[in-house]
Amino acid sequence: MKKRILIIYSGGTIGMEPSPNGFIPKPGLLEELMKQYPVFSNRIMPEYEILEMDPLLDSSNMAPADWLSLAHLLQKQYERFDGFVILHGTDTMAYSASALSFLLEGLRKPVILTGSQIPMIEPRNDAMENVVGALLFAANFDIPEVCIHFDNILIRGNRSVKIDCDGFRAFESPNLPPLGEGGIHMRIKDHLIHRPFGEDTGLRIPKQLNSNVTVIWLFPGISAQIIRNALLPPLEGAVIQAFGTGNGPTTNKEFLAALSEATAKGIILIDCTQCHKGTVEFGDYETGSGMAKAGLVNGYDMTPEAALTKLCYLLGKNLPKEEIKKRLQNNLRGELSC
Ligand code: ASP
Repeated sequence: MKKRILIIYSGGTIGMEPSPNGFIPKPGLLEELMKQYPVFSNRIMPEYEILEMDPLLDSSNMAPADWLSLAHLLQKQYERFDGFVILHGTDTMAYSASALSFLLEGLRKPVILTGSQIPMIEPRNDAMENVVGALLFAANFDIPEVCIHFDNILIRGNRSVKIDCDGFRAFESPNLPPLGEGGIHMRIKDHLIHRPFGEDTGLRIPKQLNSNVTVIWLFPGISAQIIRNALLPPLEGAVIQAFGTGNGPTTNKEFLAALSEATAKGIILIDCTQCHKGTVEFGDYETGSGMAKAGLVNGYDMTPEAALTKLCYLLGKNLPKEEIKKRLQNNLRGELSC
């Protein structure tokens, strides 16, 4: 029996066409193009249906409400299909993939995001290869997680970052090797796949996400006033992109006071690193211990995209603050190594 895959087109370059103001998504174009290419009806391909989001979005226009809409759409169709391919703009694909990994509680089927740097309508493009690979990974492998397939690598969604806005290798997973690769053969590394524990109790989507969050990128000389301004109500949580192994300027007592005042008020601050690779180690330096004493929680090797969306997800559950802090530091969907 052929596997059945649902393709959800949310927007992005892959189905765009030129306009006087630059590329914009065109409803119906992607489906029309896919019908013209024999590869999509080849005998090795799974059966598929295409569902288009309305409106189609450049992913720079996406927000947490759109992550929830995608999750609900997927939930509605969950029983009818063996796997899902989400065609999405590359700009914020790492955020959507991270958010979906948390939102799709109890997921047991592959959900693979892809897109392209050049639209499918162009004669020279990376769209075909990306979609064909995503469909084949979704149909032929047991991958019960949210992934990104791009330029022949399959990476965990909540480990991904966009690293290039020109080359075809647009995404990387700096702290985890690819889960799969496409060469002459398509292979996955089974031991790296994150599998849910316990019985299959179906797919659940939480009611809401809380987007009263921000990201603060530290730089040498950042003032306490900038921190205080950034942490004003209605803010409830922030990812602090700190130096090296999670360090901050601890000789600046006002800076530390600004962080401590916020955590004492119940604002949740996660310490992540500005480095692309590696992890937060609070104990390595006095400048790291100072951040821990100010009440920051350890973000380990989470990407900023994973840390931010995890914060939106956990704050949305209205859990006690201590429980949110605990879960932030726990590995929920393979997003951190600790
Ligand atoms: N701006 C586009 C988007 O994110 C870029 C892309 O798809 O590559 O929707």
